Amino acid sequence: MKFDRVYNFSAGPAMMPEPVLEEIAAEVLNYRGSGMSVMEMSHRSKVFQQIRDEAEADLRKLMNIPDNYKVLFIQGGGTVQFAMVAMNLMKNGVACYVETGAWSKKAINEAKKYGDVKIVASSKDKNFSYIPDCSDLDIPENADYVYICENETINGTTFFTLPDTKGKVLVADQSSMFLSRPCDVSKYGLIWAGVQKNVGPAGMAVVIIREDLIRDDLPQSVPTYLNYKTHADADSLYNTPNCWAIYCCGKVFKYLLANGGLEAIDALNREKAAILYDFLDQSRFFTGAVEKKDRSLMNVPFVTPSKEQDAEVVAASKAAGFDNLKGHKSVGGLRASIYNAMPKEGVEALVEFLKEYEAEHA
Ligand SMILES: *Cc1c(COP(=O)(O)O)cnc(C)c1O
Repeated sequence: MKFDRVYNFSAGPAMMPEPVLEEIAAEVLNYRGSGMSVMEMSHRSKVFQQIRDEAEADLRKLMNIPDNYKVLFIQGGGTVQFAMVAMNLMKNGVACYVETGAWSKKAINEAKKYGDVKIVASSKDKNFSYIPDCSDLDIPENADYVYICENETINGTTFFTLPDTKGKVLVADQSSMFLSRPCDVSKYGLIWAGVQKNVGPAGMAVVIIREDLIRDDLPQSVPTYLNYKTHADADSLYNTPNCWAIYCCGKVFKYLLANGGLEAIDALNREKAAILYDFLDQSRFFTGAVEKKDRSLMNVPFVTPSKEQDAEVVAASKAAGFDNLKGHKSVGGLRASIYNAMPKEGVEALVEFLKEYEAEHA
């Protein structure tokens, strides 16, 4: 790593690809002869319009997004989407949620403000350490959608098989796995992702929504900004957007396209995750916290035999140049987030460190 950067295992905001950061640094004072930074630029200017349009076009190419889906860039990060999804998609006022951890619980609590929420499957019984069977869910006829958090950032689980929604619209929070593997967008009605986990700077969400789900009959009380139609009609330029985040995300989209697209990043992510999981599986000191079949390739929670030792490993790892390995306060232990931009060398170095720690302390 250059510039004395550390291996940052944070769950978000998280690492960005170094070549992307270098490009951004080179353009920060004067973006391509415009005489100004993207931070200083009118969102109505031709230069910015091109940045926005290319970002959307590149994302469409990367994910192979069908023409009948809109791509929206919306401010407010991930959390605003918990409300927006429910406000916009609850037509009958009934929605089904799969409860797999902290982030799906937040989505559930927010949706309850707008209608009836039916929890159709849950892994609460085992502390959210697995993905429940979603092959035969009890979905009411009038349900507006079925909602999943496709990768639970805190608990470290991921859906490798999507639920059978029995023909209902599938909505997925992909925040902590967005662009980490190929995705068949046509299986979803709506995909959203806060971008600070796997793509860019915090403060924005990408929303991919099937056009027929954008409504013009929302109650008057829905704030203008929280109506998907507002953003769809204005190409995400209804008001001043998060120009900086759109610009940075656009760079990451181009970087992924230039490096083999989602198939290539998926192969690399599998390789990285295997290095860490293989180590955890043979270790007699560290233990993975999730059922093997549902283990996230992005967020890897693990524990030592005691809370005290967890804290000791976190402190020692930080001193050795590995940052943010402390588990989320709600679950404890350790967690290594190894998103797209974490180099394979970073995971290898972490495993070497953990191996030596185990040899000396266990
Ligand atoms: C981080 C995260 C969010 C929330 O994102 P904010 O931008 O902080 O609101 C939602 N869902 C998942 C799965 C996340 O990892």
